Amino acid sequence: MTATNEQTPRRARHTRHQEAVLALVGSSDAFRAVRDVQAMLREQGTEVSISTLYRTLRLLEREGLVDSVHDEAGAVRYRRAAPGDSGCFLVCRVCDRADPVDLGEVEEWAVRTAGAEQFADVVVHARLRGVCGRCAS
Ligand SMILES: [Zn+2]
Repeated sequence: MTATNEQTPRRARHTRHQEAVLALVGSSDAFRAVRDVQAMLREQGTEVSISTLYRTLRLLEREGLVDSVHDEAGAVRYRRAAPGDSGCFLVCRVCDRADPVDLGEVEEWAVRTAGAEQFADVVVHARLRGVCGRCAS
């Protein structure tokens, strides 16, 4: 029997391009636009169609390996999930930096509210959008 870390999402086998996408979105704390990820992959010599890239990122998100946010225009952005992330982020709308924050009472409220509607196994994702200290000064 091998020891496992409960916080680590189950690791599926990935193709080389899926691993390249994962490494790229993990290279920064910022959430990256899918077109930017595609351009960076191209600079590395990996050509991936935008539809394949969206499919890959959605797959990695289902596996718990990446997180997503929607930007001001409604476009989805991704970054690598960190073990122990609460699922709640403070996102800067200027530089796209995202800092995880504690859900605190919000999670209790969400689970209680969902339970009242007969929902179980609830996962909470919250995004607080604003301008970070660096961008504001
Ligand atoms: Zn900022």
